[in-house]
Amino acid sequence: MDNSEKQIDKKERAKERREKRRQEISLIRSIPYSDHQRWWSAETVAVVTGANRGIGFEIAHQLALHGLTVVLTSREIAVGEESAKVLQEGGLKVVFHQLDVIDQESIDTFCSWIKENYGGIDILINNAGFNNNIGSENSVELAEKVITINYIGTKNMTKAAIPLMKPNTAGARIVSVSSRLGRLNGRKNRISDDALRQQLEDVDSLSEELIDGTVNKFLEQVKDGSWTTGGWPQNNTDYSLSKLAVNAYTRLVARELADRPEGEKIYVNCYCPGWVKTAMTGWAGQVTPEEGADTAIWLSLLPDMRISGKFFAERREIHF
Ligand code: NDP
Repeated sequence: MDNSEKQIDKKERAKERREKRRQEISLIRSIPYSDHQRWWSAETVAVVTGANRGIGFEIAHQLALHGLTVVLTSREIAVGEESAKVLQEGGLKVVFHQLDVIDQESIDTFCSWIKENYGGIDILINNAGFNNNIGSENSVELAEKVITINYIGTKNMTKAAIPLMKPNTAGARIVSVSSRLGRLNGRKNRISDDALRQQLEDVDSLSEELIDGTVNKFLEQVKDGSWTTGGWPQNNTDYSLSKLAVNAYTRLVARELADRPEGEKIYVNCYCPGWVKTAMTGWAGQVTPEEGADTAIWLSLLPDMRISGKFFAERREIHF
Protein backbone atom coordinates (compact mmCIF):
# COMPACT_ATOMS: atom_id res chain seq x y z
CA MET A 1 0.00 0.00 0.00
CA ASP A 2 1.54 3.36 -0.95
CA ASN A 3 1.28 6.51 1.22
CA SER A 4 -1.80 7.95 -0.44
CA GLU A 5 -3.60 4.58 -0.16
CA LYS A 6 -2.63 4.43 3.52
CA GLN A 7 -4.08 7.92 4.03
CA ILE A 8 -7.36 6.94 2.37
CA ASP A 9 -7.48 3.76 4.45
CA LYS A 10 -6.91 5.76 7.66
CA LYS A 11 -9.65 8.22 6.71
CA GLU A 12 -12.05 5.36 5.95
CA ARG A 13 -11.35 3.74 9.31
CA ALA A 14 -11.84 7.07 11.12
CA LYS A 15 -15.14 7.48 9.29
CA GLU A 16 -16.25 3.99 10.31
CA ARG A 17 -15.32 4.65 13.97
CA ARG A 18 -17.25 7.94 13.88
CA GLU A 19 -20.30 6.26 12.41
CA LYS A 20 -20.16 3.45 14.98
CA ARG A 21 -19.97 5.93 17.86
CA ARG A 22 -22.82 7.93 16.33
CA GLN A 23 -25.00 4.83 16.33
CA GLU A 24 -23.99 3.90 19.90
CA ILE A 25 -24.93 7.36 21.16
CA SER A 26 -28.20 7.35 19.28
CA LEU A 27 -29.04 4.05 21.01
CA ILE A 28 -28.02 5.33 24.48
CA ARG A 29 -30.10 8.46 23.93
CA SER A 30 -33.20 6.40 23.30
CA ILE A 31 -33.00 4.97 26.86
CA PRO A 32 -34.78 7.37 29.21
CA TYR A 33 -33.20 8.38 32.52
CA SER A 34 -34.75 6.38 35.35
CA ASP A 35 -36.50 8.15 38.23
CA HIS A 36 -33.61 7.61 40.63
CA GLN A 37 -31.16 9.09 38.09
CA ARG A 38 -33.24 12.21 37.58
CA TRP A 39 -31.69 14.60 40.10
CA TRP A 40 -33.36 17.55 38.37
CA SER A 41 -36.93 18.82 38.28
CA ALA A 42 -39.01 21.51 36.58
CA GLU A 43 -37.47 23.96 39.07
CA THR A 44 -33.93 23.21 37.89
CA VAL A 45 -32.73 26.26 35.96
CA ALA A 46 -30.44 25.95 32.93
CA VAL A 47 -29.10 29.04 31.19
CA VAL A 48 -27.86 28.74 27.60
CA THR A 49 -25.92 31.56 25.93
CA GLY A 50 -26.21 32.25 22.20
CA ALA A 51 -29.28 30.00 22.10
CA ASN A 52 -31.26 31.70 19.36
CA ARG A 53 -29.87 29.29 16.76
CA GLY A 54 -27.51 26.41 15.99
CA ILE A 55 -26.11 24.19 18.73
CA GLY A 56 -27.24 26.56 21.52
CA PHE A 57 -30.86 26.36 20.37
CA GLU A 58 -30.68 22.56 20.33
CA ILE A 59 -29.12 22.46 23.82
CA ALA A 60 -31.99 24.64 25.07
CA HIS A 61 -34.49 22.42 23.27
CA GLN A 62 -33.15 19.13 24.63
CA LEU A 63 -32.73 20.35 28.21
CA ALA A 64 -36.34 21.57 28.10
CA LEU A 65 -37.46 18.18 26.72
CA HIS A 66 -35.85 16.62 29.82
CA GLY A 67 -38.18 18.75 31.91
CA LEU A 68 -35.91 21.54 33.15
CA THR A 69 -36.68 25.24 33.09
CA VAL A 70 -34.52 26.68 30.35
CA VAL A 71 -33.51 30.30 30.04
CA LEU A 72 -32.83 30.78 26.35
CA THR A 73 -30.66 33.85 25.91
CA SER A 74 -29.45 35.78 22.92
CA ARG A 75 -27.97 39.19 22.26
CA GLU A 76 -30.75 40.20 19.84
CA ILE A 77 -34.13 40.43 21.59
CA ALA A 78 -36.40 39.88 18.57
CA VAL A 79 -34.66 36.71 17.29
CA GLY A 80 -34.30 35.31 20.81
CA GLU A 81 -37.97 35.81 21.58
CA GLU A 82 -38.87 34.17 18.28
CA SER A 83 -36.68 31.11 19.05
CA ALA A 84 -38.07 30.81 22.58
CA LYS A 85 -41.60 31.00 21.15
CA VAL A 86 -40.95 27.96 18.93
CA LEU A 87 -40.09 25.90 22.03
CA GLN A 88 -42.85 27.40 24.18
CA GLU A 89 -45.40 26.48 21.50
CA GLY A 90 -44.19 22.89 21.85
CA GLY A 91 -45.27 23.04 25.51
CA LEU A 92 -41.75 23.41 26.91
CA LYS A 93 -40.77 25.46 29.93
CA VAL A 94 -38.57 28.00 28.17
CA VAL A 95 -38.18 31.68 28.97
CA PHE A 96 -36.23 34.29 27.10
CA HIS A 97 -33.83 36.94 28.38
CA GLN A 98 -31.43 39.21 26.52
CA LEU A 99 -27.75 38.44 27.15
CA ASP A 100 -24.68 39.65 25.30
CA VAL A 101 -21.70 37.83 26.79
CA ILE A 102 -19.25 40.61 25.96
CA ASP A 103 -21.36 43.44 27.36
CA GLN A 104 -20.90 43.74 31.15
CA GLU A 105 -24.06 45.83 31.55
CA SER A 106 -26.10 43.16 29.79
CA ILE A 107 -24.52 40.45 32.00
CA ASP A 108 -25.23 42.44 35.19
CA THR A 109 -28.86 43.06 34.18
CA PHE A 110 -29.28 39.38 33.36
CA CYS A 111 -27.76 38.23 36.67
CA SER A 112 -30.01 40.55 38.74
CA TRP A 113 -33.04 39.29 36.82
CA ILE A 114 -32.19 35.61 37.28
CA LYS A 115 -31.46 36.07 40.98
CA GLU A 116 -34.74 37.87 41.54
CA ASN A 117 -36.89 35.51 39.47
CA TYR A 118 -35.25 32.11 39.98
CA GLY A 119 -32.92 32.52 42.96
CA GLY A 120 -29.92 31.45 40.87
CA ILE A 121 -28.67 29.00 38.24
CA ASP A 122 -28.20 25.21 38.33
CA ILE A 123 -26.61 24.76 34.91
CA LEU A 124 -24.77 27.26 32.74
CA ILE A 125 -23.98 26.41 29.13
CA ASN A 126 -21.38 28.74 27.62
CA ASN A 127 -22.29 28.23 23.99
CA ALA A 128 -22.10 31.72 22.41
CA GLY A 129 -19.31 31.76 19.87
CA PHE A 130 -17.98 33.25 16.68
CA ASN A 131 -15.65 32.17 13.88
CA ASN A 132 -14.87 34.47 10.98
CA ASN A 133 -13.44 31.70 8.80
CA ILE A 134 -15.13 28.82 7.09
CA GLY A 135 -13.23 25.66 6.11
CA SER A 136 -9.56 26.26 5.45
CA GLU A 137 -9.75 30.08 5.30
CA ASN A 138 -7.37 31.70 7.76
CA SER A 139 -7.97 35.43 7.91
CA VAL A 140 -7.22 37.10 11.26
CA GLU A 141 -9.06 40.27 10.27
CA LEU A 142 -11.55 39.78 13.12
CA ALA A 143 -9.17 38.07 15.55
CA GLU A 144 -10.00 40.44 18.40
CA LYS A 145 -13.72 39.78 18.00
CA VAL A 146 -13.16 36.01 17.88
CA ILE A 147 -11.02 35.98 21.04
CA THR A 148 -13.35 38.39 22.84
CA ILE A 149 -16.58 36.48 22.17
CA ASN A 150 -15.20 32.97 22.58
CA TYR A 151 -12.75 33.38 25.43
CA ILE A 152 -13.57 36.65 27.23
CA GLY A 153 -17.33 36.00 26.84
CA THR A 154 -16.97 32.53 28.41
CA LYS A 155 -14.82 33.99 31.19
CA ASN A 156 -17.27 36.85 31.85
CA MET A 157 -20.22 34.49 32.12
CA THR A 158 -18.38 31.94 34.26
CA LYS A 159 -17.28 34.64 36.71
CA ALA A 160 -20.75 36.18 36.86
CA ALA A 161 -22.50 32.81 37.30
CA ILE A 162 -20.32 31.23 40.03
CA PRO A 163 -21.82 33.31 42.88
CA LEU A 164 -25.29 32.50 41.52
CA MET A 165 -24.87 28.73 41.24
CA LYS A 166 -27.42 27.05 43.49
CA PRO A 167 -26.38 24.59 46.19
CA ASN A 168 -27.44 21.14 45.08
CA THR A 169 -26.46 17.63 46.18
CA ALA A 170 -25.96 16.62 42.53
CA GLY A 171 -23.64 19.60 41.98
CA ALA A 172 -24.17 22.68 39.83
CA ARG A 173 -22.64 22.49 36.37
CA ILE A 174 -20.86 24.75 33.92
CA VAL A 175 -20.35 23.36 30.43
CA SER A 176 -18.47 25.33 27.77
CA VAL A 177 -18.80 24.50 24.10
CA SER A 178 -15.23 24.35 22.87
CA SER A 179 -13.46 22.70 19.95
CA ARG A 180 -10.84 20.07 19.19
CA LEU A 181 -9.15 22.83 17.20
CA GLY A 182 -8.10 24.25 20.57
CA ARG A 183 -6.21 21.15 21.66
CA LEU A 184 -2.76 21.77 23.07
CA ASN A 185 -1.21 18.73 21.47
CA GLY A 186 -3.16 18.40 18.27
CA ARG A 187 -0.95 16.73 15.67
CA LYS A 188 -1.56 19.23 12.90
CA ASN A 189 -2.68 22.31 14.77
CA ARG A 190 -0.81 23.51 17.81
CA ILE A 191 1.35 26.15 19.45
CA SER A 192 4.92 25.36 18.43
CA ASP A 193 6.58 26.82 21.56
CA ASP A 194 7.17 23.70 23.72
CA ALA A 195 7.75 25.68 26.93
CA LEU A 196 4.49 27.64 26.55
CA ARG A 197 2.59 24.46 25.70
CA GLN A 198 3.94 22.74 28.80
CA GLN A 199 3.00 25.71 30.99
CA LEU A 200 -0.52 25.69 29.58
CA GLU A 201 -0.74 21.94 30.02
CA ASP A 202 0.30 21.89 33.68
CA VAL A 203 -2.85 22.60 35.66
CA ASP A 204 -0.81 23.74 38.68
CA SER A 205 0.95 26.46 36.70
CA LEU A 206 -2.20 27.68 34.95
CA SER A 207 -3.29 31.22 35.77
CA GLU A 208 -5.59 33.77 34.26
CA GLU A 209 -2.51 35.95 33.59
CA LEU A 210 -0.88 33.13 31.60
CA ILE A 211 -3.97 32.54 29.44
CA ASP A 212 -4.65 36.27 28.96
CA GLY A 213 -0.95 36.89 28.25
CA THR A 214 -0.98 34.19 25.56
CA VAL A 215 -4.02 35.52 23.70
CA ASN A 216 -2.84 39.13 24.09
CA LYS A 217 0.57 38.30 22.64
CA PHE A 218 -1.18 36.80 19.62
CA LEU A 219 -3.41 39.87 19.22
CA GLU A 220 -0.37 42.18 19.39
CA GLN A 221 1.30 40.13 16.66
CA VAL A 222 -1.88 40.35 14.58
CA LYS A 223 -1.64 44.14 14.86
CA ASP A 224 2.03 44.35 13.86
CA GLY A 225 1.69 41.63 11.20
CA SER A 226 4.19 39.20 12.76
CA TRP A 227 1.64 36.52 13.77
CA THR A 228 2.37 34.29 10.75
CA THR A 229 5.79 33.44 12.19
CA GLY A 230 4.67 33.46 15.83
CA GLY A 231 4.27 29.68 16.13
CA TRP A 232 0.49 29.84 16.60
CA PRO A 233 -1.94 27.08 15.59
CA GLN A 234 -1.85 26.82 11.80
CA ASN A 235 -5.51 26.11 11.12
CA ASN A 236 -8.23 28.71 11.91
CA THR A 237 -5.54 30.39 14.02
CA ASP A 238 -7.59 32.97 15.95
CA TYR A 239 -10.49 30.59 16.58
CA SER A 240 -8.20 27.70 17.60
CA LEU A 241 -6.40 29.92 20.08
CA SER A 242 -9.68 31.24 21.49
CA LYS A 243 -10.85 27.67 22.16
CA LEU A 244 -7.45 26.70 23.56
CA ALA A 245 -7.98 29.57 26.01
CA VAL A 246 -11.51 28.31 26.84
CA ASN A 247 -10.08 24.85 27.56
CA ALA A 248 -7.29 26.22 29.75
CA TYR A 249 -9.74 28.46 31.60
CA THR A 250 -12.03 25.45 32.21
CA ARG A 251 -9.19 23.60 33.93
CA LEU A 252 -8.19 26.67 35.91
CA VAL A 253 -11.71 27.32 37.23
CA ALA A 254 -12.22 23.62 38.02
CA ARG A 255 -9.01 23.72 40.07
CA GLU A 256 -10.10 26.89 41.88
CA LEU A 257 -13.52 25.42 42.73
CA ALA A 258 -12.31 21.93 43.62
CA ASP A 259 -12.39 22.47 47.39
CA ARG A 260 -15.99 23.56 47.68
CA PRO A 261 -17.88 21.50 50.26
CA GLU A 262 -20.32 18.70 49.40
CA GLY A 263 -23.69 20.16 48.50
CA GLU A 264 -22.05 23.28 47.03
CA LYS A 265 -19.97 21.62 44.33
CA ILE A 266 -19.70 23.22 40.89
CA TYR A 267 -18.46 20.94 38.11
CA VAL A 268 -16.80 22.76 35.22
CA ASN A 269 -16.12 20.98 31.94
CA CYS A 270 -15.90 21.65 28.23
CA TYR A 271 -16.58 19.63 25.12
CA CYS A 272 -16.23 19.57 21.35
CA PRO A 273 -19.56 19.12 19.52
CA GLY A 274 -17.91 17.71 16.38
CA TRP A 275 -18.14 19.40 13.01
CA VAL A 276 -21.75 20.56 13.05
CA LYS A 277 -24.09 21.71 10.28
CA THR A 278 -24.76 25.28 11.46
CA ALA A 279 -24.29 28.81 10.12
CA MET A 280 -20.77 28.75 11.59
CA THR A 281 -19.64 26.00 9.21
CA GLY A 282 -21.79 27.17 6.30
CA TRP A 283 -23.93 24.08 7.09
CA ALA A 284 -21.09 21.90 5.83
CA GLY A 285 -20.50 19.83 9.00
CA GLN A 286 -20.79 16.08 9.54
CA VAL A 287 -23.38 16.04 12.31
CA THR A 288 -26.70 17.70 13.04
CA PRO A 289 -27.09 20.41 15.73
CA GLU A 290 -29.07 17.85 17.73
CA GLU A 291 -26.09 15.47 17.74
CA GLY A 292 -23.72 18.37 18.41
CA ALA A 293 -25.75 19.27 21.49
CA ASP A 294 -25.67 15.73 22.91
CA THR A 295 -22.49 15.82 25.03
CA ALA A 296 -23.62 19.12 26.62
CA ILE A 297 -26.90 17.49 27.67
CA TRP A 298 -25.08 14.41 28.96
CA LEU A 299 -22.64 16.51 31.04
CA SER A 300 -25.48 18.69 32.32
CA LEU A 301 -27.60 15.78 33.52
CA LEU A 302 -25.05 13.13 34.47
CA PRO A 303 -26.14 11.52 37.75
CA ASP A 304 -23.36 11.01 40.34
CA MET A 305 -21.29 13.71 38.68
CA ARG A 306 -17.77 13.82 40.06
CA ILE A 307 -15.90 15.01 37.00
CA SER A 308 -14.49 18.51 36.70
CA GLY A 309 -11.86 20.25 34.61
CA LYS A 310 -12.09 17.77 31.74
CA PHE A 311 -12.60 17.90 27.96
CA PHE A 312 -15.09 15.64 26.18
CA ALA A 313 -16.32 14.66 22.74
CA GLU A 314 -19.07 12.17 21.90
CA ARG A 315 -19.60 11.49 25.65
CA ARG A 316 -15.96 10.44 26.16
CA GLU A 317 -13.05 12.22 27.79
CA ILE A 318 -10.43 13.43 25.31
CA HIS A 319 -7.01 15.05 25.77
CA PHE A 320 -6.74 18.80 26.11
P1 NDP B 1 -23.85 29.69 15.19
O1 NDP B 1 -23.07 30.70 14.46
O2 NDP B 1 -25.03 29.05 14.57
O3 NDP B 1 -24.31 30.24 16.62
C1 NDP B 1 -23.50 31.06 17.38
C2 NDP B 1 -24.37 31.67 18.44
O4 NDP B 1 -23.56 32.49 19.30
C3 NDP B 1 -25.45 32.59 17.84
O5 NDP B 1 -26.63 32.43 18.57
C4 NDP B 1 -24.86 33.98 18.06
O6 NDP B 1 -25.81 35.01 18.14
C5 NDP B 1 -24.21 33.75 19.41
N1 NDP B 1 -23.33 34.85 19.79
C6 NDP B 1 -22.29 35.37 19.11
N2 NDP B 1 -21.77 36.41 19.80
C7 NDP B 1 -22.50 36.55 20.93
C8 NDP B 1 -22.46 37.42 22.03
N3 NDP B 1 -21.57 38.40 22.13
N4 NDP B 1 -23.37 37.24 23.04
C9 NDP B 1 -24.29 36.27 22.97
N5 NDP B 1 -24.38 35.43 21.93
C10 NDP B 1 -23.49 35.56 20.93
O7 NDP B 1 -22.76 28.58 15.58
P2 NDP B 1 -22.81 27.13 16.26
O8 NDP B 1 -24.16 26.85 16.78
O9 NDP B 1 -22.14 26.22 15.34
O10 NDP B 1 -21.80 27.38 17.48
C11 NDP B 1 -22.15 27.24 18.85
C12 NDP B 1 -20.89 26.98 19.64
O11 NDP B 1 -20.30 25.74 19.21
C13 NDP B 1 -19.81 28.05 19.45
O12 NDP B 1 -19.16 28.27 20.68
C14 NDP B 1 -18.85 27.37 18.48
O13 NDP B 1 -17.56 27.92 18.57
C15 NDP B 1 -18.93 25.94 18.94
N6 NDP B 1 -18.47 24.96 17.96
C16 NDP B 1 -19.13 24.80 16.78
C17 NDP B 1 -18.70 23.85 15.87
C18 NDP B 1 -19.41 23.60 14.58
O14 NDP B 1 -18.95 22.72 13.82
N7 NDP B 1 -20.50 24.28 14.27
C19 NDP B 1 -17.50 23.02 16.14
C20 NDP B 1 -16.88 23.28 17.41
C21 NDP B 1 -17.36 24.21 18.27
P3 NDP B 1 -26.26 35.86 16.82
O15 NDP B 1 -27.28 35.01 16.12
O16 NDP B 1 -26.82 37.10 17.43
O17 NDP B 1 -25.02 36.08 16.02
